[in-house]
Amino acid sequence: MIHLRTRTEMDTIAQAGSIIGKLHDTLPDHVRPGVSTGELDAFAEEFIVSHEGAIPAFKGLYGFPGSVCISVNDEVVHGIPSRDRILDEGDIVSIDVGVRLDGWYSDSARTFAVGEVSAEATELMRVTSESLERQIEAAVVGNHIGDIGAAVVDVVNGTGYGIIRELVGHGVGRELHEEPQVPNHGRRGHGPLLRDGMVLAIEPMLSAGTPRIKTLGDGWTVVTADRSLSAHFEHTVGITSDGPRVLTAADWPVAAGADIPSAG
Ligand code: MG
Ligand code: MG
Repeated sequence: MIHLRTRTEMDTIAQAGSIIGKLHDTLPDHVRPGVSTGELDAFAEEFIVSHEGAIPAFKGLYGFPGSVCISVNDEVVHGIPSRDRILDEGDIVSIDVGVRLDGWYSDSARTFAVGEVSAEATELMRVTSESLERQIEAAVVGNHIGDIGAAVVDVVNGTGYGIIRELVGHGVGRELHEEPQVPNHGRRGHGPLLRDGMVLAIEPMLSAGTPRIKTLGDGWTVVTADRSLSAHFEHTVGITSDGPRVLTAADWPVAAGADIPSAG
């Protein structure tokens, strides 16, 4: 079933999400040539648990060995952090982070440039980020899940990029992955109706080549089938009568336990 959350519940998700937003804002200082994805994972875990009650949601989830997912270049998602994986100048690296706080989840990803990257890589990241922005704008009460998917297709059309369709966004709440699925394709006016209180992880994944993917022998790392570059941006978004509310932005100012008006 698709859950509808109260404003208070959404506020807690936003509080978890603000930790991810702050982490993502901090990471450009750390994502640089010569650093290992294992070091970035350790930094991310330390950052998350320095916030009282917060834990890295991916650690151990379905058996995942890292605290965050770090996917380099042709890796789309679910890259396993490793001290042996050293980032090089020109790489792009997607860092997908989940935080659990007071029993609620938040989920967000960004792709970062390592030093100077190619114009092609910069453009792929820009288009993927723009896709997410257009999708968030479509996440309004009265629209449908299909409107969110159609928004990506509109942005990507004519670019030659592939939209990874085999992986989807999802509801977020008491579990990291809840209903409904939020595909990165769709038809306007189709799919579940967007209602006040829904919380969705919206996450376009694009490739510079084929939309097809495969999973590596480690059982986790998803790569583009033609090993072309891939980018991934994700926000957890609350559907509200006041419009879409990004719950994984850094600037959530309310402290735990603060008096927040409830719509519930
Ligand atoms: Mg994610
Ligand atoms: Mg997600």
